Amino acid sequence: MQHFTQRQLFLQHVAQTSDAPLLLEIVRAHGMYLYDASGKKYLDLIAGISVSNLGHTHPKIVAAVQEQAEKYMHLMVYGEYVYTPQVLLSKTLAEILPSNLQSVYLVNSGAEAVEGAMKLAKRFTKRKEFISFNQSYHGSTQGALSLSGDDFLKTNYRPLLPHIAHLPYNDMAALSAITTNTAAVFAEVVQAEAGVFPADAAFLQALRQKCTETGTLLVFDEIQTGMGRSGKMFAFEHYNIVPDILLLAKAFGGGLPIGAFIASQEIMRVLTFEPVLGHITTFGGNAVCAAAALAHLQTLLGEPQWIDSVAQKEALFNKLLQHPAIKAVRGKGLLLAMELESAEAVQFCIGECLERGIVTDWFLYAPHCVRIAPPLIITDEQISWVCSQILEILAVWEERKQF
Ligand code: PLP
Repeated sequence: MQHFTQRQLFLQHVAQTSDAPLLLEIVRAHGMYLYDASGKKYLDLIAGISVSNLGHTHPKIVAAVQEQAEKYMHLMVYGEYVYTPQVLLSKTLAEILPSNLQSVYLVNSGAEAVEGAMKLAKRFTKRKEFISFNQSYHGSTQGALSLSGDDFLKTNYRPLLPHIAHLPYNDMAALSAITTNTAAVFAEVVQAEAGVFPADAAFLQALRQKCTETGTLLVFDEIQTGMGRSGKMFAFEHYNIVPDILLLAKAFGGGLPIGAFIASQEIMRVLTFEPVLGHITTFGGNAVCAAAALAHLQTLLGEPQWIDSVAQKEALFNKLLQHPAIKAVRGKGLLLAMELESAEAVQFCIGECLERGIVTDWFLYAPHCVRIAPPLIITDEQISWVCSQILEILAVWEERKQF
């Protein structure tokens, strides 16, 4: 019988999303590191795309998963039974969120949180129009893709949803497009996939004001920035304003798939009538995922040093990543884009990093930027080592260009 390698079977039977997958075969992961079958270890500079904020297989999260899995996993579709992990998770979130964000709808992913929020805004405002921003990324389902602000992923999937306008980000003048016909504005507090562009405070505050004036719901997509990555639990806390709907996913689950759209009880109530079951999900808020999310959140709250040290770690990256090949290091907290001269330079850097045992990546709309979004538990020594490796790699790149 012919013997196939794992890699061959992966390429044959696991549906592919590109012609050039990374093909790392990781057999275990712990803390800051991933380990492949040969025992080689990789420092994780991207946290599985802004997911593993407390690192991999955190003992408290693993214990919570094991404990819950032994009690029960799935009993009933979302919203019917009282699941203790869902209750505690929602209550703990409500305690740390502003008074208008007290009702938590648990879903399976970031894109589903976006979809749920779009439906909620349509129902609550009885309006049809949406606004989002150029170069935003909100997910890959049809509604979330429609909101996303770059044609790269959209062109071949049209027609998408109608009645959506995309405005330039951080452009105050553009906000006049928000009117009493706008159901909701979806905004990332830091535009991640664009290559990490934080919102200007004045812009976000003007956006909040315009939404309030027009009765438009302001939705903050914190799917990538939430759970401490920006240096505060939620990035909107840097700006002294509050959204009407908050979206979470990615790091929210501590490594398991769960998302949420969060609003006031008044807004959320519209999903209960005309029709009843305004948003349905079988697995949303799955008991094991909710238990993992709760353990993750409780650990972040109980060990404030992780979020508190984000700004200092960001500063260390900024200080060390100085090189003529680096055009900019941009971002907020531990969500950084290191901009190089070209996508080729970035691919060279990613490949060389892998050789040296560092996992990194590019951005959906910014292939000329290297992604730096490690678990928040990265140490100063690890940052120094990673940066020294990157500088060495960039020196090789510059040298090669000479010939
Ligand atoms: N919103 C933002 C800002 C994201 O970065 C992402 C994913 O990268 C999503 C939404 C979609 O989340 P998911 O991949 O869980 O559907």
